[in-house]
Amino acid sequence: MAFNRADYVKIKKEYESKRQKARDTVELHRAQVFAKIPGMDEICRTIESAGPRAYEAAMKDASSFDEHFAEIKRQTQSLVAEQTRLLLEHGYPEDYLDLHYDCPLCRDEGNIDGKMCDCMRKALIKAGYVSSGISGLCDKMNFDTFDLSYYTGEARRNAELVLRSARRFAEEFHGEGSGSLLFMGGTGLGKTHLSVAVAKRVIERGYYTHYCTAEAMFSDYRAEKYRRFDDDSPVRTDKYTECELLVIDDLGTESGGRDVTPTLYGLVNARINTGLSTIISTNLSHKEMMTTYDERVASRLFGEYLPYMFTGSDVRMQKLRN
Ligand SMILES: [Zn+2]
Repeated sequence: MAFNRADYVKIKKEYESKRQKARDTVELHRAQVFAKIPGMDEICRTIESAGPRAYEAAMKDASSFDEHFAEIKRQTQSLVAEQTRLLLEHGYPEDYLDLHYDCPLCRDEGNIDGKMCDCMRKALIKAGYVSSGISGLCDKMNFDTFDLSYYTGEARRNAELVLRSARRFAEEFHGEGSGSLLFMGGTGLGKTHLSVAVAKRVIERGYYTHYCTAEAMFSDYRAEKYRRFDDDSPVRTDKYTECELLVIDDLGTESGGRDVTPTLYGLVNARINTGLSTIISTNLSHKEMMTTYDERVASRLFGEYLPYMFTGSDVRMQKLRN
């Protein structure tokens, strides 16, 4: 499980600033309360020194530690009661001097005993939807919203098979070595829908995923190729070679250019060689793949990717008619 590294760094920083904010708030509250309630300063410091005093007592004379500990505990409890009474008497909430965290489980650390806390996992998933490029799509395009009723007869049986396979791919995805898929078939048959659905589920399961249209991807490669020497913005194409699952939608609809075939071959090859998974959806047939790109690209895709043929009649057109 890797999530998106940039998301992780960003969220870790947010957590640190939340904890700092909580500490600053307590400092502010203490200053207010100490200024207003005489003796509160002393009470707080005595409560806070209970731990060190108990430790000191244990170091000095282990035989009488129990006795000392009981005394320190009794005194602390009575001071805490006094502190609460004074806070309420002066119109403050009783927890006014306590640290407050968004997540009391991990105290906004993001992990508990070295394990990622649920709050952190949720934050990473939410950030993953955005950074992967599917945030605007995944509410509508997920496994639950894939409607089989738009397919009939043989196309229905085929759609059921493709849906089942895509779901299994997403559920069994385990990073490197999970294989790659090729979604083929005409426009409006659900290729984008299932590509996004897989991406969403794989993000939820904690993997670094990126979704893009072929057009956007080639345009990034082009921008990178003509990058100015003094441009120090992050490299736009790193995500295509680094993410654990890359989804390239609508291959074949990109504007052509001499660089398209070598770029695609280089990327497909690099991802196969490093064991990283890719899902490519395309309207192109095997033959069109050979003419649009070249034989090497077609043979890599058809040799290494598991192909699924989408059949039926255009779902988008059916939705418009209904
Ligand atoms: Zn937490």
